[in-house]
Amino acid sequence: MTPEHHAGAGRFRNPWPNGTLQRFSGVLRWEFDRLTKPLPAQPDPSVFRSVTPAFARPRASAGVVVITWVGHASFLLQVGGLNVLTDPVWSERASPVAFAGPRRWLPPGIPFDGLPPIDAVLISHNHYDHLDDATVRRLAAREPDARWLVPLGLAPFLRSRGARQVVELDWWQEARLDGLVIGCTPAQHFSARGFRDRNRTLWCGWSLASVARHVFFAGDTGYHPVFGAIAERFGPFDVALLPIGAYQPRWFMQPVHMNPEEAVQALRDLVAARARVAERPTVMVAMHWGTFKLTDEPMDEPPLRAARAWQAAGLPRKDLWVLAHGETRTL
Ligand code: ZN
Ligand code: ZN
Repeated sequence: MTPEHHAGAGRFRNPWPNGTLQRFSGVLRWEFDRLTKPLPAQPDPSVFRSVTPAFARPRASAGVVVITWVGHASFLLQVGGLNVLTDPVWSERASPVAFAGPRRWLPPGIPFDGLPPIDAVLISHNHYDHLDDATVRRLAAREPDARWLVPLGLAPFLRSRGARQVVELDWWQEARLDGLVIGCTPAQHFSARGFRDRNRTLWCGWSLASVARHVFFAGDTGYHPVFGAIAERFGPFDVALLPIGAYQPRWFMQPVHMNPEEAVQALRDLVAARARVAERPTVMVAMHWGTFKLTDEPMDEPPLRAARAWQAAGLPRKDLWVLAHGETRTL
């Protein structure tokens, strides 16, 4: 039986209600609104601070997870004794061209040449703020033995840029890397790098399970009904990296990007899953904010709203991690 998210003719889709992106006319309406209506004021980039990373060199012990925020959806995750990068972007812009497109507000939290050896790279989908041509080439050259895990359809992109060991997974499939089991999880999003390739490659999140720690990296996603099912299958999670930015205007972004309140609800869905044995609360790490300005909300608004929603949900303050660029924390 063909899974519901396989749309046929080599395309993919979100299998839930309200998961459909606006058509091109919606993009034009958004652009028109931006020209004709006042936009919220943006903070000065100096409000963001970066700190010196303190990850384990060369690797962390298998009993902990060490998380360092590079920026946006790029993290160094040291889990199961391996060094894993998520959605690595080291370029100055998240764009097909070097002279235009969203520019970084802060340099990468770990300089590229300061990276430890990398064992695996996880890619969530092919948007420019998650899959960067130049970074893929640099990583593939520096780390010829790294394993690359990607959703369906993305292997040719990686292989043609030098990656040697590429594994494509469909939603709910798993791959084993030494002491780590990596699961490909559903997400509500879309894919495209140009005008004619909409939804021709899949999008996903990732679960990383060692004997000691379970980590969930949500990728880019709107709020959808299967966070609980993800936790039942791959959890219970000790930590969940959830996107909180790129949500305004809502009428356009809601199908594809959660706002901070929805991210907190997603965390609660993960925790409420029946399979969870609550040894300790699940930590939420805020991601997909404060690095590239993609949408209309003020760049510093997402963590403020996330903190308010977190408090309103009665969750312990210490379990919401809003990291500075370059910050390392261990669980
Ligand atoms: Zn995206
Ligand atoms: Zn994104």
